[in-house]
Amino acid sequence: MTKKGVVASLIGAIFFALVFPAVVTIADSLEKVKAYQFVVDGEKWFTVAETEKEAVEEILREYQGQFMKNIDENAQIKKVGFAQQVFLAEVEVKPEEIDPFEIVEEMIYAVEEEALEIEVKKGDNFWNLSRKYKLSVNDLIILNPDINPEKIYPGDKLLVRPMNPILDVVIELENTVVESIPFKVKYRRDNRLYTHQQKILRAGVEGEKEVLYHITLLNGYQHSLAVLEEKVLKEPSDALVQIGTRKTVSRGGRINYGVVSGTRISSYYGYRIHPITGKRRFHDGIDIAAPHGNTVYAYTDGVVVEAGWNGGYGYCILIDHGDGLKTRYAHLSRIFVRVGQRVRVEERIGAVGSTGNSTGPHLHFEVIKNGRTTNPLNYL
Ligand SMILES: [Zn+2]
Repeated sequence: MTKKGVVASLIGAIFFALVFPAVVTIADSLEKVKAYQFVVDGEKWFTVAETEKEAVEEILREYQGQFMKNIDENAQIKKVGFAQQVFLAEVEVKPEEIDPFEIVEEMIYAVEEEALEIEVKKGDNFWNLSRKYKLSVNDLIILNPDINPEKIYPGDKLLVRPMNPILDVVIELENTVVESIPFKVKYRRDNRLYTHQQKILRAGVEGEKEVLYHITLLNGYQHSLAVLEEKVLKEPSDALVQIGTRKTVSRGGRINYGVVSGTRISSYYGYRIHPITGKRRFHDGIDIAAPHGNTVYAYTDGVVVEAGWNGGYGYCILIDHGDGLKTRYAHLSRIFVRVGQRVRVEERIGAVGSTGNSTGPHLHFEVIKNGRTTNPLNYL
């Protein structure tokens, strides 16, 4: 069924489910006419003439439709309704009790609080904006599904408060998206290699899975999201890396990723399809969640080619290692190197932060090989 069809049939079901039988006396019926009363949570909102019932239903469909604009066209709409109990009740009223039709649209579209959109300024990020506007970082991400938190710049618009209507529209949908499965890196020790040396014997390849999401939207924005089913389409193939005596795992729940000691990879490299909008977004690096202020080290010997503020990346360093290899370190809180400076492997170059458009303290680490980004997991 099409989205419109589902909406129509659902609204229809709501209306016809509850039709009040009108009890009238013969005397009353002479002066009373059949009409429809719009009732929300047991409260009468307005009364329209019998001939205007369909027009009211059409306005309700359009009203609900405004909250469906950003939904992926491949998604299956399962249910469209209101958070409130809403129905049109058949009644018999005196002609003077019928309200002018103009108020119908006005009442249905009534808003409790208008949306609030802000313009991004230098230094803003999801972390401090969420505190300023008293919502969670996750809410900010949900309200701006088209925005890549790492790639926004001063002047960009962000929704920090959604429009809050009186009649809340609840939409249930299901969507299947293909997602990548990260590969693991296996290390083979080789005593002939120095501590910091490593060689990729076999590059890892991401797998692929099909994920079925069940999502509910409240007034157009994600209210809940659950994975119903996952089907592996292609298993990932592990990377095999030859290393010297470099340690990969250290104590205390911290993982030594070489360039930083962190807690986990919070976002992997590659495409991600938004489960609601269906839009694809590319992540050029990996995000390693790490405590604010943790030291960031140079991946290997090289020359600093960029060091400073870089839009959504915040304080950022780019190092050229020669042989067509460059590495980028973003969202830093501090930078200890200058452009043109030579750095050695595992030299201290900066500190983990949340500058630029970042959702919390982490290191965005990017590997650029011959001008194109590549999966950093093969290099860590
Ligand atoms: Zn990132």
